[in-house]
Amino acid sequence: MLTTNKTQGKQLSWVNISFLMLTPIIALLGTGLYIHQNGIQIFDFLNFLLFFILTGVAITGGYHRYFAHRAYGCKPILELFYLVFGAGAFQNSALRWASDHRDHHRYVDTEQDPYSIMMGAFYAHMGWIFYKEPSNRNFDNVPDLLKDRLVLWQDRHYLLLSMLIGFVLPLAVGFAVGRPWGGLLWGGFLRIVITHHMTFSINSLAHMVGSQSYSLEDSSRDSWWLAFLSNGEGYHNFHHRFQGDYRNGVRWYHWDPTKWFVKILSWMRITSHLNRTPDDTIFRARLDTDMSRVQKKLDGASEGMRRHVLAQLQSGREALERARRRWAEVRAGYLQVRANAIAHSSQVLQDWKENIRNCEKELRQASHRWRNLCRV
Ligand SMILES: [Zn+2]
Ligand SMILES: [Zn+2]
Repeated sequence: MLTTNKTQGKQLSWVNISFLMLTPIIALLGTGLYIHQNGIQIFDFLNFLLFFILTGVAITGGYHRYFAHRAYGCKPILELFYLVFGAGAFQNSALRWASDHRDHHRYVDTEQDPYSIMMGAFYAHMGWIFYKEPSNRNFDNVPDLLKDRLVLWQDRHYLLLSMLIGFVLPLAVGFAVGRPWGGLLWGGFLRIVITHHMTFSINSLAHMVGSQSYSLEDSSRDSWWLAFLSNGEGYHNFHHRFQGDYRNGVRWYHWDPTKWFVKILSWMRITSHLNRTPDDTIFRARLDTDMSRVQKKLDGASEGMRRHVLAQLQSGREALERARRRWAEVRAGYLQVRANAIAHSSQVLQDWKENIRNCEKELRQASHRWRNLCRV
């Protein structure tokens, strides 16, 4: 816990507190009562889903990965979509959200982190929003956004936009199918509350539970189930280590619909310059983290023991890096040969494949040894 009281001298924001307290009550009681009286129709659920997806991706793909991290480039039409539908998530304007978030990364776990987990789970989750922004707030950390006319326009009209997209539009969609109150409750209140707590969980749970494969330097953690609930944002340890990467779930099978959305739009040239951390850098970060974890475990062990374990670890790491380099070289060679397949006989291709299989076997053995060495 932080020793100084970060909330000292801050004024409570009764508007924020009321909104954060009343929306869940209306979402639960109102929707429950509505279901009791009118039942559930597919239109209600579709209304929820529509606004859940639109405002959700505007936050994860837009506010977070585009505005806060500039992890890729995008066309103004997509930027406008992010700003309009992001407002409907009731999470502040993109300018303020991104500014808070850049501070979170820069000062993570310290007193300057706006939603530091060191202030406790509730404060990191939503307690920090209970306070008014300081009147002397500056935006020094978002100079790029201050030059963006669309961002400034959204900041100026944030309240109007958020009411229109957050409540009026779901009501109108509901009205179109003869269920206006269903639209307001399902696509408005219920969806806002769920999207809120999905985002809030990344600031609380993703700094409390899960694994740390890429860095032990801060409290961030990776968890697949949180990623599943948050459009891929739950791979938070990777994200804190490589915040400029457009992916949070780095493996192809990691549940990260936001990265798939950005990738698919790049095929249509709506997004561009997708920032990817090189595989080698990620691989080395994992090894560094494994080594740091072992070093921590060795705190208090005798000097002789420390030296012995670290020497073993170093040799295991070198063997693993060698095996990986060799595998990458052989694989690159195979791909080149395959590209010129007509010029080569099928026997040549078979030989390359066999070579790759041998390298993979060697790599698996070296990985296995590494994992055993790390289990001290
Ligand atoms: Zn974080
Ligand atoms: Zn981030």
